[in-house]
Amino acid sequence: MSFQVYNSLTRKKQPFEPIDAGQVRMYNCGPTVYGRAHIGNLRSFLFADTLRRWLEHEGLEVKQVMNITDVGHITADADQGEDKLDAQARKEGRDPWKISEQHTEEFLADLAALDFLEASIYPRATAHIEEMLEMIDGLLEKGHAYRAGDNVYFDVSSFAEYGKLSGNKVEDLAAGARIDVLEEKRAPADFALWKSDPAHLMKWESHFGPHGFPGWHIECSAMARTHLGDRIDIHTGGEDNIFPHHECEIAQSEAFTGEPFANYWMHAKFLQVDGGKMSKSLGNVYTLSDVESRGFRPRDLRFTLLRGHYRQPLNFTWAIMADSARALAKLDDLVTRLKRIADGQEGAAEATAGEDLVRAAKQAFRAAMNDDLNTPPAIAQLFGLRDHAVQECLGSAAAALALEFLAGVQGALGILDMQEESLDQETQDIFNERIRARENKEWARSDKLRDELLERGIVVEDTGGRTVWRKR
Ligand code: AMP
Ligand code: ZN
Repeated sequence: MSFQVYNSLTRKKQPFEPIDAGQVRMYNCGPTVYGRAHIGNLRSFLFADTLRRWLEHEGLEVKQVMNITDVGHITADADQGEDKLDAQARKEGRDPWKISEQHTEEFLADLAALDFLEASIYPRATAHIEEMLEMIDGLLEKGHAYRAGDNVYFDVSSFAEYGKLSGNKVEDLAAGARIDVLEEKRAPADFALWKSDPAHLMKWESHFGPHGFPGWHIECSAMARTHLGDRIDIHTGGEDNIFPHHECEIAQSEAFTGEPFANYWMHAKFLQVDGGKMSKSLGNVYTLSDVESRGFRPRDLRFTLLRGHYRQPLNFTWAIMADSARALAKLDDLVTRLKRIADGQEGAAEATAGEDLVRAAKQAFRAAMNDDLNTPPAIAQLFGLRDHAVQECLGSAAAALALEFLAGVQGALGILDMQEESLDQETQDIFNERIRARENKEWARSDKLRDELLERGIVVEDTGGRTVWRKR
């Protein structure tokens, strides 16, 4: 059973095969740290985390690089739009280095709260200026770039394959270009590698001049090359990164090295909120702290985002979040039940009963994940398993097998709570007291204690002559 991934470059699903057997070199376009990441950004990053987890689940070793864009992120048209970090610094009247430092820390804290695996490295663009200049010099030498005063542009006409990722044609780009295309550019589709502007807040001296800063695309080409080498296996981002960002990265990197840059390009679709685009004017650009201030756990968000396939548009609503919290409670209940069944406290009489059901669920889960990380049917298997547990179809050996499967699921998705569950002492005392009340047939008192436990989030069940508890 091989892992099939959808490759934006070939526009089809292909079996994943790393360049070096057993090892994966993966680059994820990370955040621009001028503000806090919103839940849409988090969707893209969670997709990268899931991909990493699944590759590891399948026995591969992954070197994962997720960059931090802390300078010169020039918006869509690549050389005339504003640098978001520079603009934010002016707006706040603050030092851009302080702003990027603050939001980098915040970003890493968000990832930790959401149980992301730590990447091998989170390189900062500002720490790779030398490597960017080295590539720019190389591109100039090879005739793929040209200078215009203190600025340097990539010459798109020098790279015949420009457009291979996005499907955009250079002619169409020229025709659709705005009238005020910079006169110093030879063609409208050419994009900036290095810009100069004395008014820019973050700037570096180089042989191009005293006040320079990098174009956005060269940052990722240089950071990928520094940490992963000239050829990498997987490059990811959100769907908006396909053009111009990734198209331009391919042009720069391949023109510079003369080799294919990344074998697999994978992109997450945008997250929508309340059925539409997230927007500041609608006040629905939510962050993890908005999620938490509504009483949800980071885990509820993680689960909500994983319930949709990364290549399908996903709609976020607070009602869906509430549903996710309820669904997770069921999965917690599954874990609790399986532990009890495995201990012989409940479940089918025959230990091996239901083993085939567990094996089928495990196989279906793996098949779904191997199908381009199809998380919705993979997650559905867990609820199927819970039905079997509730219906007492599973014996103790089957439950032990299921717990082993869930440990694997946890490694791949990070949504379960596999902790040994126990009650705090006070709650345990109330629970014990209720058992005694029931034994003594003090029904009113027993009901009162049951309500007390419920208030503490503990559901008590009297089944088959035994009394058990689970978290609500
Ligand atoms: P930025 O911080 O703007 O560079 O964006 C970081 C990442 O988030 C990029 O890979 C974007 O493609 C991605 N992204 C931005 N908005 C959304 C969204 N609504 N849904 C999913 N991904 C997004
Ligand atoms: Zn990038």
